[in-house]
Amino acid sequence: MVGANGLAREDVGGERAAVEIAAEPLGRGRLRQLLAYARKVYGLDRLLSGCRDRRCDPQISTALVARIILILGLLRIRSLNALEPKLAEPWMQRALGASPRQRRLCSVDTLAYALQRADVGSTRDMLVRMVKKAERNKVFREGWYGALRFVALDGWEPFCSYHQHCSGCLTREVTVGNEVRTQYYHRYVVALLLGEKLEVVLDMEPILSADVRRERGQANVTGHEGELTAAKRLVQRLRTTYGGWLDVVVGDALYSNGPFLTIAKQCGFGVIAVLKKEADEPLREALAIWGDDPPEQRIHDPSKHEDIELWDCPDLDTLSSYRGPIRVVRANVHKAGASKPGTWCFAVTGKATRLSADRVVRAGRARWHLENTGFCQWVKYWRFSHVFTHGKDALPALFYIFFAAFNLLQLFVYRQLGGYGRDRGRDVTRTLWRLVDEMNGDLERLEHRILWDTS
Ligand SMILES: [Zn+2]
Repeated sequence: MVGANGLAREDVGGERAAVEIAAEPLGRGRLRQLLAYARKVYGLDRLLSGCRDRRCDPQISTALVARIILILGLLRIRSLNALEPKLAEPWMQRALGASPRQRRLCSVDTLAYALQRADVGSTRDMLVRMVKKAERNKVFREGWYGALRFVALDGWEPFCSYHQHCSGCLTREVTVGNEVRTQYYHRYVVALLLGEKLEVVLDMEPILSADVRRERGQANVTGHEGELTAAKRLVQRLRTTYGGWLDVVVGDALYSNGPFLTIAKQCGFGVIAVLKKEADEPLREALAIWGDDPPEQRIHDPSKHEDIELWDCPDLDTLSSYRGPIRVVRANVHKAGASKPGTWCFAVTGKATRLSADRVVRAGRARWHLENTGFCQWVKYWRFSHVFTHGKDALPALFYIFFAAFNLLQLFVYRQLGGYGRDRGRDVTRTLWRLVDEMNGDLERLEHRILWDTS
């Protein structure tokens, strides 16, 4: 439904009502609309006010710090240094709600100092509350394939450095010329809700360094932990955080092992995970059963110019580390113009086994959204890989606020400006990028300050 002001209607506080941005004397423009939408539908002021840090008696509130970082993410400002002069500009001050008498809001050094002392849990809570509100507003009601909701998990390494490091850093030895050097990096497992277009970040979990593991009292620590260990924590937390509305975890070959499938099953998740090694079970058994048999099904997908051949093998019981049947699906994907097909194999468990083989393959391949849509955008367009500030708490706090900005942009485009997203076609990245450009243009036309609720 579209309201009189051209914006679609969405649930506000449990009631269907238009987001009446006209009531706010803020001038026209997408930035003003997005902030009005985020504040009315998602209670953005309250969400940001929930962010905490460990500074003593700070002059600049954590809510203002979080608001500045959110605007930094929404407008794709490339670094804190690039933000510094903007903070003194009158339109940026209006966007952040500064009174006309305030000459300088806050320095980027203060922002970095506050982020270093961030309470990461409070920034995560902000993201979670936003997603939960979207779920209550029935944004994800329809599910995706087979009315199920799919979560892609993958490791993400936003940056690496030979110089900057902290106790949260992971390390590896890298040969540079004739020299072996220590490289420092951070890596997270990120959970992204998959969808046709709208794909929101649900949560993330750091892969812990040896130092942090010792700090947390883990015994007999011999090194950094692996991605799977962090992923298992994340899967359990997704269930305890979000309850029962998430159905299937989608992952790469790292996740197609008995211990991970078991944890996912215990948490009530089905799994679709890539199978790569032909010598490993359950793929070995499935390949032996299929032999040289012709495909069981052939599908033509005109929208992607693809022909897909499918083989399906249900109820394999060949993994000693997983109790229960595992289905294996293989697809040969012939793309128009390609000389040979690409082959995909997946292990399928739990709720995901009720999907047709075709849908298993579609959902499994959609995992690459996380790299092609999420990760690629964050690095290429959002510059999340730029080291805004470094620290084991500063980085995740920054990313949680950036992910909230990323989610808000998508919710705004696809829930509130339905026609805007449709008119700009299938390329989600380009659609969001275009909106960000428009908002940057709007910033300088912001005539009245935004009255943020700081209570
Ligand atoms: Zn570090």
